[in-house]
Amino acid sequence: MVSIADIGYDEVDDATGEVPCRGLSGESLKKLPCHIILDEVAAAQSICCTICLQDIEGGEIARSLPRCQHTFQLSCVDKWLIRHGSCPVCRQDV
Ligand SMILES: [Zn+2]
Ligand SMILES: [Zn+2]
Repeated sequence: MVSIADIGYDEVDDATGEVPCRGLSGESLKKLPCHIILDEVAAAQSICCTICLQDIEGGEIARSLPRCQHTFQLSCVDKWLIRHGSCPVCRQDV
């Protein structure tokens, strides 16, 4: 399996005929799982939102991407996905 980071977007474009860096629609965003970070989870392990580089606190809503399980604050990742449509950490398509 070839990681998307190893091949240029242009090559992906040729292979699929789609635009891989297109952002997600609101409908697609709603289908992604999100959950509230519990206080005890936040206390036991610091979960860093790599978009804004702040820790996700207990009671905040986070979204985990189903393919790679990377977790971000809901508001941060939604803004990102609307523009990019892929994980900000590993660039996997969502
Ligand atoms: Zn954030
Ligand atoms: Zn990821």
